[in-house]
Formats: sequence, structure tokens, C-alpha cells
Amino acid sequence: MQKKSTQEEQRLAALHSYHILDTAIEDDYEELTELAAAICGTPIALISLVDEERQWFKSHRGLEVTETRRSQSFCAHAIENPTELMQVENARLDPRFQNNPLVTGDPNIAFYAGMPLVDDEGYALGSLCVIDRKPRKLNEVQEKALKTLSKQVVNKLVLRKKLRELETVHLQNIQVSLKSKESERNLRLIIEQSPAAIVVFRGENMVVDAINPAMLELLNQQENILGKPILEAIPELEDQPAYDLLKDIYLSGQSISRYDTPVSLHRNGKLEIGYFNFTYAPLMENGKVTGIIDMAIEVTDQVNARLAIEESAHQMREMVMNAATGMCIIRGQDLVIEIANDPMLKIWTRTSEQVIGRRLTDVFPEVVDQPFPDLLRNVLNTGEALAIPELTADIAEIDGKINRIYIDFAYKPLRNSDGEPEAIIATVTDITETVKSRKLLEQSRSQLQEANVELGTVNEEYIALNEELVATNEHLRRAEENLLKLNKKLKEKEESLRLSIEAARMGTFNLNVETGVIEVNNYCRELFGFPEDIKVSMKGGFGTLIEDRKRIWDAMHFAIENRTLFEEEYRILRKADSAVRWLRAVGKVSDPAIGLDKHFYGTILDITDRKASEQLKEDFIGIVSHEMRSPLTALKGYIQILEWKSKRANDVFTTDITKKAVRQINRMTTLITGFLDMARAGEGKIYLNKTYFDLTDLMKIAEEEVLATISTHKIIFHAVERTIVMADQDKLEQVLLNLINNAAKYSPNNSRIYVTCTKRDAWIRVSVKDDGMGITIKDQAHIFERFYRVIGAKTENISGFGIGLYICKEIIDRHAGRIGVESALGKGSTFWFELPIAPLSETIH
Ligand code: ADP
Repeated sequence: MQKKSTQEEQRLAALHSYHILDTAIEDDYEELTELAAAICGTPIALISLVDEERQWFKSHRGLEVTETRRSQSFCAHAIENPTELMQVENARLDPRFQNNPLVTGDPNIAFYAGMPLVDDEGYALGSLCVIDRKPRKLNEVQEKALKTLSKQVVNKLVLRKKLRELETVHLQNIQVSLKSKESERNLRLIIEQSPAAIVVFRGENMVVDAINPAMLELLNQQENILGKPILEAIPELEDQPAYDLLKDIYLSGQSISRYDTPVSLHRNGKLEIGYFNFTYAPLMENGKVTGIIDMAIEVTDQVNARLAIEESAHQMREMVMNAATGMCIIRGQDLVIEIANDPMLKIWTRTSEQVIGRRLTDVFPEVVDQPFPDLLRNVLNTGEALAIPELTADIAEIDGKINRIYIDFAYKPLRNSDGEPEAIIATVTDITETVKSRKLLEQSRSQLQEANVELGTVNEEYIALNEELVATNEHLRRAEENLLKLNKKLKEKEESLRLSIEAARMGTFNLNVETGVIEVNNYCRELFGFPEDIKVSMKGGFGTLIEDRKRIWDAMHFAIENRTLFEEEYRILRKADSAVRWLRAVGKVSDPAIGLDKHFYGTILDITDRKASEQLKEDFIGIVSHEMRSPLTALKGYIQILEWKSKRANDVFTTDITKKAVRQINRMTTLITGFLDMARAGEGKIYLNKTYFDLTDLMKIAEEEVLATISTHKIIFHAVERTIVMADQDKLEQVLLNLINNAAKYSPNNSRIYVTCTKRDAWIRVSVKDDGMGITIKDQAHIFERFYRVIGAKTENISGFGIGLYICKEIIDRHAGRIGVESALGKGSTFWFELPIAPLSETIH
């Protein structure tokens, strides 16, 4: 601590010895701060000297105040390390300075770089510093320049101190001279004690007459130089300007002073150039020059520093010329382009010859109305740097075409020795491509935004749709609830149906036509005799059929394909006990509107008992008719003999009776024949005796027969074309007579019956039309069935068995013909049958 305070005391003593504190502004120092600010590109540059309480500014470029408290001083920190440049890149982040009022308030220091001013004795007197209001960092060139400039400041201080001392000596000299030139010894003494380097030459040869230690040191010579002619002692001076000037003094008798003069001297074992400020003064005796006093100060360091500055100015120029971005220097209010590098020329679309040394506004007349000239002049007027990013510039190419470009630019002032901004260093970067791509990006971003907005709309629509969906869902939910209820009801119905079916002892089946899977109820299993553990299949079902398998199979497929009613009776051999059973199956294909797979479902009844009773009936009729036919034939024979005898005996009464008896026997015969036919038909045993014959013959026979037997009705036979058919003539006669008899039976007496024959295509149709009671559509569907009779008040008293039409249909079917009726209740009936007409080629035989 003790040591430190002593050191500080010595440092302060050294500082005070320079007599610099509180002196006036001097150009030398102003120039140096200007250079420092220009090179480092900062708005503030200071020469700060640190005394006990404060830092005082010998030069304060860019700052109003002349001193601040030492405690707030950055330089006080800088001088702690006298050999190093102190750099604070961002004072706001540096704990040493972040609360410093110079940082928190005016001048708002952010950046500081200070190089200590260290004199020959090693005392750090203060610093040369540059300051900015924004954070930054010096580059290598700038650091080097600041160091060099700080040496220059020190040199100036030293020079000043020496000059001051010289003046003192001079004064003393003069005083000595005034004291009537005491003795030469005295003069030598004075010279010797002078802190300035002094040498006295005598005579034409310029013999060294007196020399002080300062000059000996300067010339790197020893005391033995005394008494030697100058060229002998310092031969290298020959032909040097400094020596020539000495010779001139003998001729002119005038004092001369020279500054920064280079002189080559052998020093430190080599020939080196030193720079000197010197004054040669003649020594006059009797109006004649007898000698010269040479007083010199070495300024080698100062000159070297200046050269270094010039070098850095040169480097700046180089920097401008070699910069990758556009850079130029524009000088004066006229805005003359001093230098411009290649990128700048490229932006300008000009050659160096077209711009250098010319006014900006002459080279680019179009910028007169643009902001650049004013901005540039403003920098010159205020000294404030300016940077504007992304400015539009319209540059006219040589052919006059205007080219719009985008630039980032920065203008920094360059100051003259008076500190006045006199030029501008402009940095311009062409960012046209970047801006264009950014604009493209912005455009696509805005398109994206639009797309987003559109998406938003779509989203809204989607939300609306969603709401609709929610509503629909609610609908569906309710519908589902209803469906569940309906399903429940359906189940109940199904159950009751099942129970009814079970009660009715009805088998049910449900065949999935697509998959072939069949489901049956338990009774159905019972009907076919399938055990419970066996899976029922269609094949298994058909396997039980005794005959007609193909017919039933085809009928089922026909019904499935044509969606018609399947209604068949067949015999099976029941699986369980091999009993023969008659079954009646009714089925239909499902409605396609239901949308399920195609299903064929239906019911099956056991009709074995009904079949058995029918068979009994048939058997009985067959036997009875057969048994009755023989006695009846015999009876008819006897009656005919009786008729023949009575005719011969002219017994009119007996003849009449026998005729009636024959007619009754004929009726009886017809009846029995019918029964027999029916029995045969039931067994499929109606045999045809087919021949080619003319239908007109048949009609004629029928007409004769009818006219003989029916007197109750008017029967009209229409004329008939000759038509050959291939048929059993007797059987067809039987059919026609049956139809005519029915017409008479079921229509009022005396009404008309028409018998016609019409041809259509290859078919011949025979029709019997009556004006009788007519038949309902419902009954029409059944009257061709065996034993079917229409039951009603009108038919009550009409005898019959319901087998006539059945036999007619069997006969016509066996001829591959067709039979039918057209009728309506109360509107009469037309019964008809059709037969194919025999082709002409066949009829020739
Ligand atoms: P039947 O006449 O012996 O009863 P059919 O088989 O000849 O038997 O006739 C069947 C039924 O058809 C008759 O019972 C009758 O009801 C009806 N039928 C037949 N022909 C006619 C007709 N021309 N007009 C009205 N009904 C008729």
C-alpha cells in the first residue's frame, strides 16, 4: 500500500512536470483525437490525463465536458495496466461500469477503448481513448492505430516539456550574454548543462568546439569528438542537406530552423535515419561568421508516428478499395467522389474514370430529387454518422434506363485537422436480391395467410356441417330407439307367429339363396325325421323325396328366379322311421326391397291323411264305375232289343219309353266313363289315340249330337274352315260336348250358346260362349281342379261332381294344348281350348 501510494505520488509528480493540466486547446492534440475518432469510427475521442481527483481532457472531441471525477473515470482503470489497450465492448454488461453515471446517463457510454499515455520514465499519465454510444469492438488495424496515436500524444507532451526547458536555457543564455559575456568557459558550462542537444562548431572546417551530453547521446558520440572537424567525426553527413545547410550559414550569416528533417547517422552500430527539428545560429565576430551553434531535438518517434498515421490513412484507402461491399469517399459540400471501389462502381454501373474527381450530382443527375445529397450534406454539417437499411435507389444506367435497386448504406464523417467533417466515407451494400427474395417470401406468406383465411372459412363450414351431423345423429339416435321398440314388437310378433305355427303343426324353412344355408323349425325336422343333432341341408331334404326330385327342384328354382309362388305336393321317405309321408310345401322368395340376402322361405304341411282319403275316394269310384259299367252295357242291350221289338209291333207307348230309357242309360254311361277317366287321369293313365283329322268333321258330329240331346237351348255353330289337327278325335269330342253341356247346365233355358272356331298363328281355338251366371275370378282359378264346384244359391240345385273340367284339362294338357275361361259373374262365360294346327307337310299323309 505504502509502495503503491509512493508510486502514485511519483506518477503525479511526473504528470505535473509536463505543465499540461488546464492549458488551452491546441491543434496538435485536436488533430490526434480527430484521427483516432476517424480511424476507429467513433463519435467521441479524448486525451485524458488523470490527476489526484479528476481526469482532465486535453482534447475532448465529441464531448462537451472538459473533466470528470476520477472515481467515474474509465481511464483511471486503463492506466492500471500501462502497457495494454483497455477495451470495454459493452459497459452496460460490465460490473465495473454498469452503474457509472457516464454509462447510465449522458454521454451514455457503451463502448470504450483507451491506450495509456506512458512517458519515457514509464509513468502512465492518462490515456488516449475512443468512446461510442453503442456496443462494438475495434479491429486489429484500429487497435494498432490507437496505440501509435497514444505514443504520438506522449511525444508531443515530451517535446513540449523539452521546448519549455530549452526556452528556459535560452533565457539563461541571453542573460549570460547580457552579463557582458563572462567567459567562454561559462558558455561551455551553460551548453553542457542545457537539457537540449547543443553543439558549437568553429572555423571553416567546422571543428567541434563544444558539445553537451544531450548532443553526444543524440549523435551517439564520445567526448573525443571535441576538436575534430565535423566530417572527420561524422563522415556520413557529407552530401546530406543538414550538412549543406551548415555550410550555407557561413555564406548567409542567417539563422535557420528546419523541422522533421531526416538525417542518416551511424548510431548503435548501424546507419539509421533519424528525424530532427534543428536551429543553426551563426557565431559572429567582427561581422564575420566564425562558428555555428546547432541546437537540435530528435523527433524520430513523432515523425515515425505520423508516418504510421499516414500509413493507416493509406490502409483506410486500401480498406475502401478492397472492401467486398460498395465503399467510397465523398469530399466537401460539392460532394466530389474521391475514391470508389469496384463493388461501388458496379452498383453505380459506372467506370472509375466516369466518377472519380466528379460531383455526385453531376454523375447522377437523377439523385438530385432523391434524399441522398441532403443526407450526405447533413453528415458533413452535423458530423453525425448515419446508417439506413433497405433504401430504394433509382440509378440511371449510361443509356438512361432507370434501374431500381435496394441498398443498405452507412455514412461516416471524415474530419480535417480542425475537427470539421470534410468528407464522408460511404458504405453501400446492394441487397436487391435479398429484398426481392424477401418480398417473394412476404408474398407467399400473405398467400399463406389468405389460404389460412380460406381454411378458416372451410373450417366454419365444417363446424356447421358438424352441427348438422350432430342434429342428424340425434335424429338417428331417436330413430334407433324407435327401431329398438319396433324390433321388440317384431320379436313379440315373431314369437306369437312361431307359437301359432307350432300350434298349426306347420314346418317352416328359410333358405339363404346366396349362401345355401337353410334354417328350419323343430316341427319341420319332425316332418322329415331329421334328428336334432344333424344339420339340415337342402341336399338332405331333397334326399328324402321318393320321386319327382327333378320336377320339384326345377319348380323351386323357377319360383326363386321369377319370384312366383312355389306350391308343390310330394312324397318322402321319413328319415327317422322310413315311413312314406305326403308333404305340401308353399314358398316364396323374399322382397328385394328388404335389402337382405335373397331368402326363400315358406311352410310345409303333412298331407298324408288327406291324400289317403282322396285315394280311398278314387279307389271307391274306380271300383264302383267298373262294376257298374258291365251291368249297364247289358241293360242297354236289353232295352235296345225291347225298342226294336216294340217298333215292329207298332207299340208306340213302349217305343217311347224304351227311347227315354236308352237316353238315361247313355247319361249314366257318360257319368261312369267320366269317373273312370278321372281315376285313370289320377294315375296318369289317359291314353290318346292320335290321328290326323279335320276339325270340321268333329264340329259336325258334335252339332248332330247336341241337337239330338239338348232341346232347352238354342245352340249356334259357326261355319268352320277346314283345319287338320293331329289328335284323339273321340277325346276332343268328349271335351267339346262337356263344355257345351256345362254351358247349357249353367245358363237359363232358351238362352243362346255359340260354338266357334278361330285360327291364330299356328293355333286353332274352339270356344263355347253362354249367357249364363258367369264365374268369379277367384273361382276361375280353381274350376279345373278335381272335385271343385262353385258353391252358391244358383248352383245348389245343379247336379255334378266337379270332375268334368278336370278331365277336359287333362286331355288338352296331354295334347300339349291350352284350356281356359273368360268370364265375369252374371255376364256369361266363354270356355275355350287351343290346339296346334298340324303342319301342311304332315297332313298330306
Ligand atoms: P260339374 O259341372 O259336374 O260340377 P265341372 O268340372 O264340369 O263339374 O264344372 C265345375 C264347376 O264349374 C261347376 O260346378 C260350375 O260351378 C262351374 N261351371 C262349369 N261350367 C260353367 C259355365 N258354363 N257357367 C258357369 N259355371 C260353370
